Amino acid sequence: MSIASQLLEIQKSIPENVTLVAVSKTKPVSDLMQAYEAGQRIFGENKIQEMTEKWEQMPKDIQWHMIGHVQTNKVKYMAPFVTLVHGVDSFKLLAEIDKQAKKNNRTIDCLLQMHIADEETKFGLDENELFEILESDYFMNLQNIKVKGLMGMATFTENQSQIEKEFIFLKTVFDKLKSAESRPNLDPKILSMGMSGDYQLAISCGSTMVRIGSSIFGTR
Ligand SMILES: *Cc1c(COP(=O)(O)O)cnc(C)c1O
Repeated sequence: MSIASQLLEIQKSIPENVTLVAVSKTKPVSDLMQAYEAGQRIFGENKIQEMTEKWEQMPKDIQWHMIGHVQTNKVKYMAPFVTLVHGVDSFKLLAEIDKQAKKNNRTIDCLLQMHIADEETKFGLDENELFEILESDYFMNLQNIKVKGLMGMATFTENQSQIEKEFIFLKTVFDKLKSAESRPNLDPKILSMGMSGDYQLAISCGSTMVRIGSSIFGTR
């Protein structure tokens, strides 16, 4: 099947209120252009350099999402154009994004990444760390970022009930965040969870944004 028809299949299988991020990491611009021509405007990349190169070459109405782990010293390269940073997992990184956003005269939307998997290797905050950041005075002073919600990755396992448990946990934290004390730079609307293998389950658990790569562009 072509990229365009796989994309349309995925779009048909997700409800209207769920946003599809087409994860195009490692794929050539010609593949991304096939998705673009089929109507896709939101692309996800996990390396800043690769995302920047693609941004330079591709139409300017694309929204670029950084879904990977971000090194503080590379934030400046994506600050002029990135639409949403999914993997923010420290105050230090949030502060750097704020600083670079300010230099570019813009506000950058961010998701805080939660550690929900049963694996040491996946990045992310626990619930205490999350609320510590959001309740601090330092956070209040960040005027050029907006925290739009949470992102998480489930354990890489066949065990559906474990994945479901992790997604439900993330949704619970998201609901707490929505009822937290209001802050000018906190506007929790987005719950980014679900990839090719588990997006249906993620949607049934309350996901509002799915990040799908291999089911659209093929295996990497
Ligand atoms: C690669 C990646 C995805 C997409 O994975 P697929 O299984 O190809 O759909 C989603 N989220 C993150 C954070 C990724 O790194």
